[in-house]
Amino acid sequence: MAQKEKNIVYIECHCCGEKTPRTSPNRKYCSRCAEKIAKSPTRKRRSKAAERLLDWRDLRGKSLNRVDAEAKAFGLSYGQYTAAVYSGGIDALLRSRGFIDPKAVLMGVKAR
Ligand SMILES: [Zn+2]
Repeated sequence: MAQKEKNIVYIECHCCGEKTPRTSPNRKYCSRCAEKIAKSPTRKRRSKAAERLLDWRDLRGKSLNRVDAEAKAFGLSYGQYTAAVYSGGIDALLRSRGFIDPKAVLMGVKAR
């Protein structure tokens, strides 16, 4: 085992600076900090929010009729809606139109 240990690459933890064996190419933190970060509420909130956004904003896989029906539910044309989604301005646009919870609106949308 002593022979093998010589090949271990150590990285400095980005959080506490502790030297920690690199067990994967993406490793940035020592095991203690990695655990802390994974459990932090900010991280959880962020990933949940990201999932939710992906969920309703992702137009891939939706039929044209579906996207058109969604656009109409927001009082937008198909072109306005897709342009806003792809530019990332959809949140601001919908908020300015009084749609606080776009996901809830979309749940009631039925494509013809
Ligand atoms: Zn650390």
